[in-house]
Amino acid sequence: MDTRQKILIIDDEAVIRNVLKSSLKKEGYEAWTAANGTEGLEMAAEILPDIILLDINMPDINGYEVLERLLADKETSDIPVIFLTARADKAEQVRGLETGAVDYITKPFYLKEVLARIRIHLRLKEYQEILARKNQELEEFFDLLLELNAKLEEIARKDEIMQIWNRRAFNEQINNTHNFSVRYMRPYSIIIVDLDHFKNYNDLYGHQKGDQVLQAVAQTISNSCRITDFVARYGGEEIVVLLPETEAKSSLVIAERIISSIRDLNIEHADNENLGIVTASAGVSSFLPDKNKAESWEDVLKKADEALYRAKNTGRNRVCQKI
Ligand code: GH3
Ligand code: MG
Ligand code: MG
Repeated sequence: MDTRQKILIIDDEAVIRNVLKSSLKKEGYEAWTAANGTEGLEMAAEILPDIILLDINMPDINGYEVLERLLADKETSDIPVIFLTARADKAEQVRGLETGAVDYITKPFYLKEVLARIRIHLRLKEYQEILARKNQELEEFFDLLLELNAKLEEIARKDEIMQIWNRRAFNEQINNTHNFSVRYMRPYSIIIVDLDHFKNYNDLYGHQKGDQVLQAVAQTISNSCRITDFVARYGGEEIVVLLPETEAKSSLVIAERIISSIRDLNIEHADNENLGIVTASAGVSSFLPDKNKAESWEDVLKKADEALYRAKNTGRNRVCQKI
């Protein structure tokens, strides 16, 4: 592939085209020429030169318009354009720069100056391209960081074994739910589920099997809830469910459904009060904004815990509620 830099000269004067072309070639550039604006635009789109030297006064379309069209086309808008202007005409030079040229060279020109300006603008263009690339890389890196942060955030809030939210996430969530409920006078409920004689299960079947049971139980609880409910591991083998917009009566129904879904897993547990399978107990409490105005979420949670304690003491494998 030819790696020489390409320069396009657009000028209606043959002498200028020829002089520029031969000196640029001598300097190692690939030089192209066009004798009018229309031809120049066509060539620019086709060869995508690294720089364009553009005459202003031409018979068909003048240099300003050529430049405007180059800038309007996404393919050619980044090509630096140097105007070839009449020495005396300052207004012409200013207008050229305002139209979007990077520089101008006055005619008749001093060849060494032309070459020096071309070199400078080619280098500038290169730096711009490097900057754009680095910018792109930075943006990609930034996106990656955002993604990574979101993942880390999720990891920090999830329980690895149970694949549900952890206690930290639960505390944040219940705080929000509670504040919302107080502000808008809405109810919410909490269910704490605790496996029955799970220490015995580990003793009998091993901790690894115990972990598998915890996974299955967490999964079945999640499946028993609505998408808006928040299921989290509260402690060792305790799972807590936060049910927004749910009052006492329906939370009791959901708790019963959870307990029976755990029984329905039908996981053998020979040391569970002669029941023969894994069971769980649950405590339910509700926040009723009209009744319990001064309550904190810690109070609501404590009531659920007390209800759970009662479920354990009255034979396990059941749901108790404390309103
Ligand atoms: P109860 O019916 O009164 O709840 O009896 P229990 O044995 O389930 O109660 P306790 O709270 O005394 O014991 C909970 C047990 O849960 C202790 C521990 O062996 C088990 N456990 C806690 N976390 C894990 C865990 O991550 N994996 C496994 N396999 N077991 C766990
Ligand atoms: Mg237990
Ligand atoms: Mg426990």
